[in-house]
Amino acid sequence: MDCIFCKIVNGEIPSAKLFENAYCFSFLDINPAAKGHALVVPKEHFETLLDLNDENAIGLIKAVKRVAKGVVLATKADGYNIIMNNRKAAGQEVMHAHFHIIPRFENDALRISPSTKKYGDNELQEYKEKIMKNV
Ligand code: AMP
Repeated sequence: MDCIFCKIVNGEIPSAKLFENAYCFSFLDINPAAKGHALVVPKEHFETLLDLNDENAIGLIKAVKRVAKGVVLATKADGYNIIMNNRKAAGQEVMHAHFHIIPRFENDALRISPSTKKYGDNELQEYKEKIMKNV
């Protein structure tokens, strides 16, 4: 399969590797939002979070926590964002599931998620019910 993250996991393409276990592989993002921006990917090819089985999802989130701790300690970050873009409409460019770990600093002026929407009358309750039925 022609997937750049599969090639990184398999060692066919070099990466700045941070961590690896049975489920996951982590490396520095080559085009970082902040220095120390890390990615954590499942070793097996899944496109998005919803495609992962539970075992892989648990392995992945454990690795995200572990790498995030390393990023925060190493960069002395004041905070951190964990981001996952799922599907093209959400900004996913590499179609192999991955979490971004981005170290944040007071007043770094990085804009990650501006809130621009307001619920209309009853809409919050409608969304709550619609989503609950599908969870
Ligand atoms: P996304 O938009 O969530 O799919 O993010 C993909 C991320 O992968 C981007 O932040 C890229 O900078 C990063 N990326 C793409 N190719 C490489 C690579 N060869 N090594 C490290 N990071 C990469």
